[in-house]
Amino acid sequence: MNMSAFTIAMRQFDEAAKILNLTGNQVVMIKEPRRVTEVNLPVRMDDGSIRIFKGYRCQHSTVRGPAKGGIRFHPDVNADEIKALAFWMTYKCAVVNVPFGGGKGGVVVDPSTLSVNELERLARRYFAEMADLFGPNQDVPAPDVNTNPQIMGWMMDTYSMHFKQFIPDVITGKPLELNGSQGRNKSTSLGLAFCVREMVNHEHVKMPLKGARVAIQGFGNVGSNAGGILESMGARIVAICDVSGGYRRTDGIPMKQAIEYGRNHPSKTLKGVDKALGLTRYDDPKQLLEEDVDILIPAALEAQITEENAGRIRAKIIAEGANGPTTPEADVILRKKGVHIIPDILANAGGVTVSYLEWVQNRTGYYWTEERVNEDLERILVHAFNDVMSTATEYKVAMRTAAFIVGITRVVKASEMRGLYA
Ligand code: NAD
Repeated sequence: MNMSAFTIAMRQFDEAAKILNLTGNQVVMIKEPRRVTEVNLPVRMDDGSIRIFKGYRCQHSTVRGPAKGGIRFHPDVNADEIKALAFWMTYKCAVVNVPFGGGKGGVVVDPSTLSVNELERLARRYFAEMADLFGPNQDVPAPDVNTNPQIMGWMMDTYSMHFKQFIPDVITGKPLELNGSQGRNKSTSLGLAFCVREMVNHEHVKMPLKGARVAIQGFGNVGSNAGGILESMGARIVAICDVSGGYRRTDGIPMKQAIEYGRNHPSKTLKGVDKALGLTRYDDPKQLLEEDVDILIPAALEAQITEENAGRIRAKIIAEGANGPTTPEADVILRKKGVHIIPDILANAGGVTVSYLEWVQNRTGYYWTEERVNEDLERILVHAFNDVMSTATEYKVAMRTAAFIVGITRVVKASEMRGLYA
């Protein structure tokens, strides 16, 4: 059965809420999103015609701070998916204990079909249409699938022009030249690598990272940088894939060359990398998930590991770079097999952590070195990893449920201390 992302998210919540014995009042205050906005965005195309694009923003929670979460440009974007992603942001921010709630936005579009000028007009129109929702104390977006620092820059400019002030703290993941933070670009991947390092060193696993075989699904911001960082920590990246297909080499794929290849290819994909770097190609990128590896990193989209393929997964550790890549049925199968899953709301929380540090720097107007940013990122992520691990041991549950227990406990406490206004 194909379960929607939001149904999956609600099931994850219910499992942790049951263990925590939450009351009905506690649940209704923190489970469902508070606000979902849907807009039709008119954009003038280069040929003079006007096209309508559907856009969404969901604010799941503002209990612990402004809503926080990325904006995705993808043809499959829909309200259900955006609500699920916003929900995960609430609990992700709570797990790493940064003072934000959860939000997410998106536009139904395949950006590769737009010119740069059309893309800019779409990004600006989206932000202008939602200007009343966003704000440094209300809702602070960031990049997600198919959006990048340049798009964040256009959005920040739109907002600043609208309110006739320079307001960099309305959005994070901006270019460095526009008050972005050092380290933001690689932060999700670096956070993921810290989690992998803690996991392999943990007494339940005890496996050397040096020489560990890694497969990475998705070679965008998260996947490619995770590959580069893990390679620098001694791991061997034996399989990578993106929309163009899957590629493997058992003695290790050189990450620097693969990243450069993808960056320079006109399609911005790995198309043809097999010939350039001597890799073996397979047509269906999903095959990568079943590679004989020690560590698997899903870093593409939701619901990739399902009850259909979970039984064939051979990795010992799965570090979820993507949001929601594993369905609840697959979770059960993998748990029985003894696979250690570092859940998305912990494994990919490095991005929102450095987004928080960017927001702090914007608000103080003082900018840090990359070393300082990375030190704070490591401290916050290692602390969160240990919180989740000790909760998993205490409640005898998988790390995913433990992460929700940590996050939900923090949100419930904040919600009760705020009380109910009017
Ligand atoms: P991106 O757009 O930079 O990269 C996505 C990659 O996935 C691309 O290489 C694309 O070709 C590939 N892909 C798409 N569909 C695929 C498929 N069916 N099979 C194989 N590969 C496929 O996006 P990103 O920013 O790297 O985000 C990837 C995931 O990580 C998303 O789930 C996102 O929500 C999550 N995430 C991103 C960040 C961040 O800071 N960028 C933070 C937290 C979580």
